[in-house]
Amino acid sequence: MRDPRAVRIPAPPGRARFDGDAPAVVVVGGGIAGLAAATLLAERGAQVVVCERENYLGGRAGGWSTRLADGSEATMTRGFHAFFRQYYNLRALLKRVDPAGRALTPLPDYPLQHASGHRDTFATLPTAVPWNALAFLRSSPTFRWRDLPDVNARAALSLLDVAVPRVYEELDGIDAATYLERIRFPEAAHALAFEVFSRSFFAHPTQMSAAELAVMFHIYFLGSSEGLLFDVAADPFPHGLWEPLRRHLSLLGATVCTGTEVTGIRPGGRKRFEVGVGEGAFDADAVVLAADVPGLRALVHESPDLGDAAWREQVGELRTAPRFLVSRYWLDTPVDADRPGFLGTGGHDLLDNVSVLDHYEHEARAWAARTGGSVVELHGYALPSDVDERDARSRLWHQLTEVYPETKRAEVVDERHELRADCPLFPAGGHSRRPTVTTPDEFLVVAGDLVRVDLPVALMERAATTGFTAANHLLSRWGVAGTELWTVPTEGRVPLLRSAARRWRTL
Ligand SMILES: Cc1cc2nc3c(=O)[nH]c(=O)nc-3n(C[C@H](O)[C@H](O)[C@H](O)COP(=O)(O)OP(=O)(O)OC[C@H]3O[C@@H](n4cnc5c(N)ncnc54)[C@H](O)[C@@H]3O)c2cc1C
Repeated sequence: MRDPRAVRIPAPPGRARFDGDAPAVVVVGGGIAGLAAATLLAERGAQVVVCERENYLGGRAGGWSTRLADGSEATMTRGFHAFFRQYYNLRALLKRVDPAGRALTPLPDYPLQHASGHRDTFATLPTAVPWNALAFLRSSPTFRWRDLPDVNARAALSLLDVAVPRVYEELDGIDAATYLERIRFPEAAHALAFEVFSRSFFAHPTQMSAAELAVMFHIYFLGSSEGLLFDVAADPFPHGLWEPLRRHLSLLGATVCTGTEVTGIRPGGRKRFEVGVGEGAFDADAVVLAADVPGLRALVHESPDLGDAAWREQVGELRTAPRFLVSRYWLDTPVDADRPGFLGTGGHDLLDNVSVLDHYEHEARAWAARTGGSVVELHGYALPSDVDERDARSRLWHQLTEVYPETKRAEVVDERHELRADCPLFPAGGHSRRPTVTTPDEFLVVAGDLVRVDLPVALMERAATTGFTAANHLLSRWGVAGTELWTVPTEGRVPLLRSAARRWRTL
């Protein structure tokens, strides 16, 4: 059952589909944003071509096949992803190929463990605000009531009155670390309940906007009754999600080209745009730019006639968050049976989370059952610039052995590591300069988690929402109906608390 206060954004009106006048649309990027845009456009009868640089779909949530040292075929992915219940638009996309909802499977809890040994949980909390926050504070070993008088109630209450997009006017000017200091939560509560959110944006709190942090808090905790519980992919992403979507697109008549980098876009030719791919080109009436930050910047740089000077400058200003490392180990021994599928960690210098894939994913479970081993993945975000990959790998491994000591005696059967820096950075003061879905050219649109959209959505859900929004925009130019969208409430969900927060603010 969806949160009864979730907000519906009606579909832009129009005729049901194209009728002998289908435009040609090229979608650059086959991540979630590109797939969402391509799916809706193809469903309405547009002639869609998806160009994806990599040999796989799904972008940062993608994966590929790899042979392990023991000869088994396995799927390596870009890393563990949590599919939160409030990802309404992403779930609507996945429903096309998974109507029974079997592709995702729930994890019972989102445990957070601090190096000091404290463990917090969100599983047993009530869903209603403010009872969830109060119950968290009451049950959390991290939060001590004697710290309460130090908390700046006025700043803390503002978290109950997060309205999107107003919060960007209020808080985008300061960074998340300053905001956290202003609230004066106890140190350990910072590390767990707050820094976890900023690290999910792959940045240290000093580098990210306080508004983004407040929006995260709103989406995942205080603004939605879906809470912090999530599902995970029951099969590796390509098998369960993206290859079925590729087949769905093909059945709709779309062309999906992987291993195809778009190298430049020129206006003119036989249609409005000529989209260059290596030696060849696609003619297009419209283009959806659904690339990541490095890809979008490079493409716009190589396409000097695209958009106008101000827009090109905005794209050029986009930055990526620091490097992060995903390390996956296939081990010859199991981890303890009661280890959760996913554990957020705080207080370690590099380790941010540990997942035990064989506790929830079919492929890893089958490998572990066959070999008697386990499959463990470690994430370390926002790596300091002076840490090289070798060092980061060994520190993550060492920290795993502290969190799960049974791994000390494990032999590594095989390992894979992905060191990347392709997530968008949302620095303080950057919101107004971020590209939006629309551009100076009404047939050129942008989608992706880097895009500014005035709705409380983030990460994968921002990718799906902007993908559908980009398609909606193009369809409405052609008089064809778009799709409805859903989000968590766009402001704090309890009127009494909202007005209390506002009153305090004016005191
Ligand atoms: C390790 C990790 C863990 C994460 N965990 C979570 C999580 O738990 N929950 C969550 O909600 N989000 C999570 N995220 C974030 C999530 O992955 C992203 O928000 C989402 O996948 C972004 O989708 P996108 O379509 O906007 O971009 P991308 O997935 O980056 O897709 C862009 C695509 O464009 C392609 N491209 C770029 N340039 C070109 C070009 N010139 N021609 C053709 N193709 C091009 C790229 O290859 C890429 O496939 C995580 C990310 C990472 C890296």
